[in-house]
Amino acid sequence: MKLDFNTLYVIILLNSVSFAFVWAVFAIAYRSLTAARYWLLALVMTSMSGPLLVAGEDSQFLTYLGMTLVSGSFAINWQGIRVFYGSQPDWGTVALIVGGSLAAMYFFGESREADNVVFAVSQIVPVSLAIFTLLRARPRYLGSYVAAVAAAMVVIGQGAETVTNLLRLSGLMSTDKYYEIAAWFLVCAIIGGSVWSLGFLIMATDRFRAELRALASRDELTGLPNRRSFYEQLKLCEESVENRNKTAAVLMIDLDRFKAINDRFGHAAGDAAIIHVAKVASGEIRNHDVLARLGGDEFCILMPNTDLEAASIIAKRLNEAITSTPLIHDGNLIPISASIGLAQWQPDTELGLMETLDQADTAMFGTKRNGRDGLTVFDGRVALERSGEA
Ligand code: GH3
Ligand code: MG
Repeated sequence: MKLDFNTLYVIILLNSVSFAFVWAVFAIAYRSLTAARYWLLALVMTSMSGPLLVAGEDSQFLTYLGMTLVSGSFAINWQGIRVFYGSQPDWGTVALIVGGSLAAMYFFGESREADNVVFAVSQIVPVSLAIFTLLRARPRYLGSYVAAVAAAMVVIGQGAETVTNLLRLSGLMSTDKYYEIAAWFLVCAIIGGSVWSLGFLIMATDRFRAELRALASRDELTGLPNRRSFYEQLKLCEESVENRNKTAAVLMIDLDRFKAINDRFGHAAGDAAIIHVAKVASGEIRNHDVLARLGGDEFCILMPNTDLEAASIIAKRLNEAITSTPLIHDGNLIPISASIGLAQWQPDTELGLMETLDQADTAMFGTKRNGRDGLTVFDGRVALERSGEA
């Protein structure tokens, strides 16, 4: 089957206009996604190149203009990827690619084959740089792989275009033979170009999903993991601890007479106290411990691979740190203390870490009952006292 180049140029136009429409909507709806504007600009440039390449049948100037728009659009797509990943756009290299290809086209003048080589290479360079950026940048999203594979398709299409034109130049391939297959190289680039635009869309969606997930798992006031995220950590720990046959410890921390702080110093001071305790506690835990705010004035710490003795040393230290580091807010010295409950989890029992959390809570109530500001380690007796009280 033989494909007509002009038909393909019309397809490039229609395809690019459709994608430009989608990216225009995206750029307006999601203003924070700066890369969308680069990808939109690139598509507008490709849309304009289609008619210029058709008109270029009779005009060398229009052909060069069309070709420059195509290589420039690939270079700007690459800038979109850089911006998406937080880098500055590299306009110097864009200018070098566009200027270099224009100069090369001018230098090689009348040779159509050489022009084709220059045109193909001027696309291969920015697309290869884009693949490099996509594979080096972190986090690597699913969309990054889709875009990289699509970009590789453009490189393959334009690579074949380069090789066949070099063969023509060296007399190893006839022009007829070249035209039998050449349109398929363009098809390769068109499909690759479309799919990489879809890859960018997936990248943007992946990013939004990751941001949403981070928002849903953080406590807004302190930035600590919230209850939902803490429960997930408990589950993860349960699985990994079970494998290694080690114990874990859970601390439940509730600030003492916190309502009184709010009432006396105001709600803003109460908020500052919660942030303050989060900082103090963060300074007392080890790297692999998980500190979370469950809500209100209640914090929790999960200590994986920790026995009761080690956990109670940390808990006592934490209790002292909270008491000995009062908050200074608006010129007021606000003393803070906390009641802590500690419980240990054994992987060989039937109880899960969620039940251990309940036990730590029960132990914490034991501290409250004993006059607050201290530590209670869970044992059956504490549990009985609590149920007896209820
Ligand atoms: P106890 O020693 O028995 O724990 O007494 P408490 O006053 O601390 O009582 P409790 O823990 O039940 O009350 C927690 C209070 O914390 C209730 C609420 O007014 C306050 N609170 C909850 N969330 C926030 C918050 O985000 N900011 C502020 N400023 N206060 C909060
Ligand atoms: Mg409290």
